[in-house]
Amino acid sequence: MTRFDPEAATAAYLGALGPEAHARATAYTQGGHWLILWTAVIGVAAYWLVLRSGVLVGIRSRLEARGLGPVRISALVLGAALLAETALNLPWVVWSDWAREKAYGMTSQPLGGWLGDYVLYALIALVASLVMMSCVYALIRRSPRWWWAWSGGLVSVFFVVSMVLAPVFIEPLFNRFDPAPPGPVRDAVAELARANGVPADRIFIYDGSRQSNRYTANVSGLVGSARIAMSDVMFKKDADIAEVRAVVGHEMGHYVLGHVWRNALFLSVMAIVALFLVDRLFPVAARLLGARGVKGLSDPAGYPVVGAMIVVLSLVGNPLAASFTRWAEAESDRFSLERVREPDGLARALVKTIEYRAATPGRLEEILFYTHPSVGSRVRRAMEWKAAQQAASRREPMTVTLVRPDAVQP
Ligand SMILES: [Zn+2]
Repeated sequence: MTRFDPEAATAAYLGALGPEAHARATAYTQGGHWLILWTAVIGVAAYWLVLRSGVLVGIRSRLEARGLGPVRISALVLGAALLAETALNLPWVVWSDWAREKAYGMTSQPLGGWLGDYVLYALIALVASLVMMSCVYALIRRSPRWWWAWSGGLVSVFFVVSMVLAPVFIEPLFNRFDPAPPGPVRDAVAELARANGVPADRIFIYDGSRQSNRYTANVSGLVGSARIAMSDVMFKKDADIAEVRAVVGHEMGHYVLGHVWRNALFLSVMAIVALFLVDRLFPVAARLLGARGVKGLSDPAGYPVVGAMIVVLSLVGNPLAASFTRWAEAESDRFSLERVREPDGLARALVKTIEYRAATPGRLEEILFYTHPSVGSRVRRAMEWKAAQQAASRREPMTVTLVRPDAVQP
C-alpha cells in the first residue's frame, strides 16, 4: 500500500481549478485588499467634504438659537451627518459592492434589487449608528475624562444586542430562512447537531444565491436566537454529504467554542483603544481636516472629525482584526476535523471558496488581509490530519517489521 502523501493530496485539490481560475481568484482577492484602502480614503474624503461645507455647524447654531437642549441638538446634527456620509459614499459602494461583484460573476442580482437591499440596510445601519453615537456624545458630555472607556463597553453591548436581534429581526428582511428540508442532508446535519449540543431545529437553508454566488455558510445569533445557516449556493454546486457535514462542523465550531463572545471582548478592547486615541488626537485631527466652527470634541458638529479618525484607525487595526478572525477560523477547522472527521469533504468545500479567496497568497499578504487562513494551508492541514489518522490506524501493535532500506533496493 502506498503511503498517503498530504502534500501531493493538497496539490491535487488545488489543481482541481485550472491556472486561469486561480489567476482570476487572485485578481479578485488582491483587488479586494486595495478596496480596503480606497474605501478608507473615500470615507475620509466624504467626512472632509461634510466638514468643509460647514453645514453641520450651521444646523447646530440654528438649533442652539432656538433653545433646544443638548440631547436633541446632538441627535439632529448626528442624523444629518450620518445621512450626508451615507449619500456621499453611495456611488463608491455601488461600484465596489455591486458592479465589481457583477463583473467577477460573484452576484446575479440586478442593480434594482441590490439597491433595494442596500437602502434598507443603510437605513438600519443609520438608525443603529444614530442611537450609538448619541449615547457616545452623551457620555462625552457626562464624563469628559473617561467617556472613551465607557464607550468601549457600550460598543460591546451594542454588538451583543445586534447579534441577538440579527437573526430574528434583520436577516429575515433580506433572505428567506427555511428549516433544512427532510432528506439525507438534514439527517446528517441533525445528527451532528445532536452530537455537539446544538439544537437541531436551529439549522436553516437560506436563499443566499439571491445576493451572492459565494459558496458559504454562517452562524449568527446568540443565546436563544443562535442558528446555523447554509446558503442555497451550497446545494446548487452539487454538494455531497461529506462536504455539508464538514462545513456544518466548522460552523458548529464557532458556536460551540463561543467565538461570538470572544469577538465581543476583542471589539470592546479595540474600541477602547481607538476611542482613547480619538480623545487625545481630536484637536490635531480637527486642525488637519480644517474643521472650522467646531467647539471641541463634545460638539456633534465635529462628528466628521471623529468619523474620519475611526476610519483611519480601523484601517490601521485591520491586520490585527483579520488575524484575530483567522485564529478562530483555524480553530473551527480543527473542530470540524476532530468531531466530524471529513478531511476530504472539508477540502472539497474549501476548494469551492477559492474563487473569492485566492488559495496561495504570500505569507505577509495572508497576515495583513486574510480573515481566514488561505485555502492552501487549510486543505494542507486537513490532509495532514488525514495522514496522521491513517498512520495511527496503521500502528497496530506487534506488527512492525523492520526492513533495512538497502534490503528492498532492486
Ligand atoms: Zn468560519
